[in-house]
Amino acid sequence: MSMTEIIRELEQNDPVVELTDKCDVICRKCPHNINGVCLSEQKVTAIDSKCIQKYGLSFGDKLHWSKLKYLAFEKIIDCRKLEEVCKNCQWLGICRLMNITLHDRL
Ligand code: SF4
Repeated sequence: MSMTEIIRELEQNDPVVELTDKCDVICRKCPHNINGVCLSEQKVTAIDSKCIQKYGLSFGDKLHWSKLKYLAFEKIIDCRKLEEVCKNCQWLGICRLMNITLHDRL
């Protein structure tokens, strides 16, 4: 499943997603995924941990995609914490650009 297909599935069907600190469906085709282990695991887990701490959630929790997206906007994006939480992430520039587009979909 490509990233485009994953986003379509999330937006159209609002599935329940599980928060994980391991490689997941999004990682399947990533070149950093070596036999199910992320080469950037330390950095990714650090960013993910900061996010779920702000959401008041834990790894292993399950919730609908729409709720997770709502929390991301409420706890990080709308209160201008993106630069703080995602500091050093290579995708930060893309997320800044996507911010307005995603916000329109809420
Ligand atoms: S960098 Fe790591 S966590 Fe991010 S998509 Fe690739 S394998 Fe998954």
